[in-house]
Amino acid sequence: MSIILCEDRSPEPEDKFHGSLYGYSGKGCRCAECREAARLYAQKYRRSDKGSKAARKSASRNNFIRQEALAWVRQNHPEVIIELEGRWNKKLDNSTVGQ
Ligand SMILES: [Zn+2]
Repeated sequence: MSIILCEDRSPEPEDKFHGSLYGYSGKGCRCAECREAARLYAQKYRRSDKGSKAARKSASRNNFIRQEALAWVRQNHPEVIIELEGRWNKKLDNSTVGQ
């Protein structure tokens, strides 16, 4: 897919796709108007029944993969887990996670 680079300017008559999802997805335009249209579309989708269900399914799948990967590393490279746990504990001590 080729990406059309638009400058921030008022759309010309032949550039009627600007500010539409078609401009962003169909034309691959990344001007401010097309990005805003895509952002609003994505926001509306995530708030819909279908979108929120898809987000939960995706989060659940990602969590499963994360746990499986971690279990595999723990099994095959326990030294990596020890290193990572040290890093995680440091980060968690310095953040507000869990407060
Ligand atoms: Zn555009």
